[in-house]
Amino acid sequence: MIPQIDEEKCIGCGTCPALAPGTFRMRDDNKAEVYNEKGDEDEAIKMAAEACPTQAILILPPL
Ligand code: SF4
Repeated sequence: MIPQIDEEKCIGCGTCPALAPGTFRMRDDNKAEVYNEKGDEDEAIKMAAEACPTQAILILPPL
């Protein structure tokens, strides 16, 4: 499970780093970024993606 952020859609709400702090973090420009694709359990990453208010988090299937 590989998460990606669509920066155009991210509104900087801070939800994804709150739910999966090992995977997502906020940048200085208040956009979220993925800094470790395997930083949290799949369930936490999925929960963060579902909780994103703008559907900015895409989850790719593993290679
Ligand atoms: S939950 Fe969505 S809108 Fe909020 S910071 Fe993360 S990517 Fe951005």
